[in-house]
Amino acid sequence: MAINFPIPAYFIDMVFINRLKSFITKSFFPHHITANLRHDATALTSAAIDFGHMVTIPPAAVLFPSSVNDVVTLVKLANSRPVPFNIAAKGCGHSVHGQAMAGNGVVVEMTSLNNPSRISISGSESTGFFADVGGEQLWIDILNATLERGLAPRSWTDYLYLTVGGTLSNAGISGQTFRYGPQICNVIELDVVTGKGDLVSCSAEKNKELFNSSLVCLGQFGIIVRARIPLFPAPNRVKWVRMLYSNFNEFLKDQEKLISINNNDNNGSKQKGGLNYLEGLLLMHDGPPDNWRSSFFPSSHHSTIISLVNQHSIIYCLEVAMYYDDRSRHTLDKELDDLLEGLDFLPGYKFEKDVSYIEFLNRVRGGELSLRSQGLWDVPHPWLNLFVPKSRIAEFDSGVFKDIVLKRKITNGPILIYPMNRSKWDDKMSAVIPEEEVFYTIGFLNSSGFDDWEAMEEQNKEILGYCNSANIKIKQYLPHYKTKEDWEKHFGHKWKIIQDRKLEFDPKMILSPGQKIFNP
Ligand code: FAD
Repeated sequence: MAINFPIPAYFIDMVFINRLKSFITKSFFPHHITANLRHDATALTSAAIDFGHMVTIPPAAVLFPSSVNDVVTLVKLANSRPVPFNIAAKGCGHSVHGQAMAGNGVVVEMTSLNNPSRISISGSESTGFFADVGGEQLWIDILNATLERGLAPRSWTDYLYLTVGGTLSNAGISGQTFRYGPQICNVIELDVVTGKGDLVSCSAEKNKELFNSSLVCLGQFGIIVRARIPLFPAPNRVKWVRMLYSNFNEFLKDQEKLISINNNDNNGSKQKGGLNYLEGLLLMHDGPPDNWRSSFFPSSHHSTIISLVNQHSIIYCLEVAMYYDDRSRHTLDKELDDLLEGLDFLPGYKFEKDVSYIEFLNRVRGGELSLRSQGLWDVPHPWLNLFVPKSRIAEFDSGVFKDIVLKRKITNGPILIYPMNRSKWDDKMSAVIPEEEVFYTIGFLNSSGFDDWEAMEEQNKEILGYCNSANIKIKQYLPHYKTKEDWEKHFGHKWKIIQDRKLEFDPKMILSPGQKIFNP
């Protein structure tokens, strides 16, 4: 439910901010932090909303840090008060349920740390290359900077206007995950401001509990201010293919067959051949076959694809990509043909594109700009992202896609479905994924009007209710729960570790209250 911004609360905020400022002035904290702390309506309003547009939670103040030291100072200040105030790091606020908000606390607008010196590339052929990047950096800026040196990270999200701290707090997944693991498994070290206000460097060897906690931490243990990301020689171009299926089992069989090939080079420094990306999506209803995230199908085929969807109600689209450069250009087509040979997609329904590497990775941006120009970007996004174990995915198809979603007919946005391997994730981290080796990620990426998002939230509840009653052991990705009991169930056997680490790194429960794990 949207919460309005009542005047008495604002008045309390003013009292709070004045006390905060006088506390800073009277204390040993550097005075320059006051200049970066704002409580004007523009700053508060922007920190009170997110991409979801379904909750509005105003903070008392917003910090626009000019240095990492400002972040340290703020967190120390919160700790030193008899009643600590909450702090939420905010990347771009691309969360959908208020996860980067801090009611009556302080939101830290991490992007104000941004300056070009906060992306720095080092290393050599023999040691490997890496980028040291600020937690506030956008993945698109990292891509542009590293490509100038002919290098790039290899695990991505579909959309690149997300911050490093924001995606590493969740996992960071996309079609590359089956091969290279999620983004959290592609980090060498971090600098983190813990909930106690200590600035600590950590890696898999040094301060490893903090390292493993901070990745996928949902912002609970520390604020990521630097990450070291391994880099690899970047390809120039991408062969991008989509194939259509009417039969779900054949679609699954082919997806699983393809991810079982070339998934064994997680630690290798060179990108070998094989598929570099695999996703899948549903085509439904009788709208255009392309969605806002990417226009792909040739317009000359739109009407036949629409007829196919009308005939079958749901068409499954398998999407793959293979990277190449000048050296592999001549062998690419043969290698791709060999991989796709024997797949059971509908004859005649295979479509190809040949695009630059950056065009491929940044494929969602065009759709975003188009939606923005139509005023359709800053609208409610009742998203639901799930991980579903492979052994139950067929029931999920019949109970959710073919029943709930088709019956309700309110879906308005892409539905993604693609598999990944548990062995590419690191069980020492706090990520929670199904217990089976192969599991599917499902994304219901709906947009709605300001009046009808609740119907989509109802559909999301029905989907979760169905999984619960059918005992399908799903896990939410980008999770949203309101009670400690739900979080306990979500984390399962990791819950005790999460609690212990919270007491160790953020004992006053200051950080990321919007996740509602320790701050209901
Ligand atoms: P925010 O929403 O601002 O923050 C998210 C959480 O992280 C909050 O709890 C916040 O307090 C915490 N946080 C933020 N910065 C830091 C930091 N520096 N240190 C510690 N904690 C921090 N996700 C995928 O995995 N794959 C995708 O393909 C993908 N596609 C997307 C496409 C779109 C169009 C959008 C809007 C989102 C997509 N996401 C995807 C989800 C995205 O990963 C999350 O929204 C994530 O939260 C990153 O967004 P953000 O940087 O704006 O972080």
